[in-house]
Amino acid sequence: KMLRNKSLIIYTRESTVDHERKMNIISALRESIKFTEQILVYYQPIYDAKTEQLVSAEALIRIDDLHLGFLKPDEFITLAEQTGLIMQLTQIMLAKVCRFIKQIPEENSPLSHIAMNLSSEDFESKVIGKTLLDIIEQEGVKPKRIGFEITESVVLQSYETVSEVMVELSLKKIAFALDDFGTGYSNLRALIDLPYDYVKLDKSVIHAAMAKPSMLLLLTEMLQKMGKCVIAEGVETKEQLSMVRSAGIERVQGYYFSKPLEEEVFRDLILQAK
Ligand code: C2E
Ligand code: CA
Ligand code: CA
Ligand code: CA
Repeated sequence: KMLRNKSLIIYTRESTVDHERKMNIISALRESIKFTEQILVYYQPIYDAKTEQLVSAEALIRIDDLHLGFLKPDEFITLAEQTGLIMQLTQIMLAKVCRFIKQIPEENSPLSHIAMNLSSEDFESKVIGKTLLDIIEQEGVKPKRIGFEITESVVLQSYETVSEVMVELSLKKIAFALDDFGTGYSNLRALIDLPYDYVKLDKSVIHAAMAKPSMLLLLTEMLQKMGKCVIAEGVETKEQLSMVRSAGIERVQGYYFSKPLEEEVFRDLILQAK
């Protein structure tokens, strides 16, 4: 029996505890799709680098499970992608973001838009563009108040569909951001060919640039010459903010200004800002 147990441990490569945790998370995902009040949207404010005014936000998913408690995306997004459940989560997130936006009259809003993340599995459906637009329309929100963040690796995995969807939704004035720029193997094709409005420099780029601020200036100038609005992610210190500002970067997101906030807290922040 001991031997069998030992070989089991070798061949599964994953401890039973980890496996059980994964299975529990998958159940929690399924349950959250049924009982959508368990899906929470947190909003991380995005500020103008110069004026330090609130200009936008990124919507970030959280799950509050009855048994497992509060779950962060790092624990469940990959599992949601592997099980195909991400498509439903995306639709629920979009509907929730729309309902939030609707509570803020456009003329009173300091926000250009609120952006949310898409995964490559979202593009396995050929009608994803229509699905997203239908939700926005049903919720009665102006498309230009919504944005989507798409990494280059998502583009590379489903180029045709991503490109079609971006062109279609851009015509409706939906904003697109190239997320996590500066990570992975960037070949710039997505940036050159696709109608991205924003480029989000990954926090690793911001942190690394502290040693070579002149590189950040060059990169920012190049992106701006391409007509992109540049957002610095992961700005945590005053020193990083001042470097980002010197480089001419327009927008800033990061713990220096604010962590992701609960919906009610973010709503109060908007009402104060206006
Ligand atoms: P991301 O899209 O790059 O989102 C930014 C992440 O960086 C967030 O983590 C945010 O809390 C964190 N962050 C913000 N400012 C700072 C900072 O100053 N320093 C550091 N170290 N981190 C900072 P979060 O919310 O845990 O999300 C992690 C990732 O999960 C996201 O990375 C995104 O890839 C994914 N994700 C989150 N929500 C969704 C969603 O609704 N759909 C999909 N498909 N993916 C999502
Ligand atoms: Ca993002
Ligand atoms: Ca990012
Ligand atoms: Ca990321």
